Amino acid sequence: MEKRDIKSLTMEELTLEMKAMGLPSFRAKQIYQWLHEKLADSFDEMTNLSKDMRERLKETYVLTALKQVEVKISKIDGTRKYLFSLPDGNIIESVWMKYKHGNSVCISSQVGCRMGCRFCASTLDGLERNLLPSEMLDQIYQIQKETGERVSNVVVMGSGEPMDNYDNLIRFIHLLSGEGGLNISQRNITVSTCGIVPGIQKLAKEGLSITLALSLHAPNDEVRKNLMPIANKYKLKDVLAACHEYFLTTGRRLTFEYSLVSGVNDNLEEARALADLIKDQQGHVNLIPVNPIKERDFVQSDQAAIQAFKNLLEKNGINVTIRREMGRDINGACGQLRKSFLEQA
Ligand code: SAH
Repeated sequence: MEKRDIKSLTMEELTLEMKAMGLPSFRAKQIYQWLHEKLADSFDEMTNLSKDMRERLKETYVLTALKQVEVKISKIDGTRKYLFSLPDGNIIESVWMKYKHGNSVCISSQVGCRMGCRFCASTLDGLERNLLPSEMLDQIYQIQKETGERVSNVVVMGSGEPMDNYDNLIRFIHLLSGEGGLNISQRNITVSTCGIVPGIQKLAKEGLSITLALSLHAPNDEVRKNLMPIANKYKLKDVLAACHEYFLTTGRRLTFEYSLVSGVNDNLEEARALADLIKDQQGHVNLIPVNPIKERDFVQSDQAAIQAFKNLLEKNGINVTIRREMGRDINGACGQLRKSFLEQA
């Protein structure tokens, strides 16, 4: 029988499993604490369990722990970009950013991605596999251990499409925000999607208070189709209706991500159309100067174009922020660090 992944189990599940093994429920509590609070990497660290008990656990479960392959630290702002290897040898990347309001970690939700967004490096080699809840969690656990600083915000904005790994995503959020773990407030967790309508609708009904970010990147379906193949499947009208529904159900305001690509989606007519498109939505626009990848010839909009785009949105009553580029000296867009590592290997 295949060993079960113990770090992906909820406290309730672990309690039931320990009971089935003939162990009292306080043992489940101890083990859960080792996994999710003391961030143990092995059963042997669980020193308040007998050796015999640890051996039994090893026979029944795997304890998923990521191994750090590389970390790059920005000299400008302290941003850290990590490469981790998974138990099966796959490589993923995560980013740690220090802000005034706390430390934020950007995690991957899949190895690779199958969404095919034209400007994104994560998708160039397609999808390898989904990440387990434990593998999403452990990116945060390893980083918190390495930095020695508490992580207060988590954004699921690294490689992968979280809605394409839905059940593992939900379980991950419960483990991350629940009691007995890092207990990160759901309000400090953001999930970013390319706009999978049934996923957004389902997420709205989960009873969570996380923030939803939509990768919009265009003011209409034509332009969006040039950048994001998913736009062929779901019309903007339906994506935005699902977003509005998300707000009505959860009360959480949305973030609309818009990566500015010179000559593709950054003229003022497009800014006006964008303002019109989202004027009835509750949320704000986050402008991201596109991070060019060598496999494509997309160019970042210049500062004047970015400012003009922002001003026009603001004049039309839209809240706008421009994403600060973190770790510019250790640059690499979403998925680029992993890709260059794999190419060297
Ligand atoms: N699949 C999810 C989350 C991962 S990408 C999604 O599509 O939202 C996180 C954000 O970074 C998305 O808005 C994505 O479109 C954007 N992004 C990816 N590569 C980029 C690049 N090279 N430059 C700017 N933004 C990029």
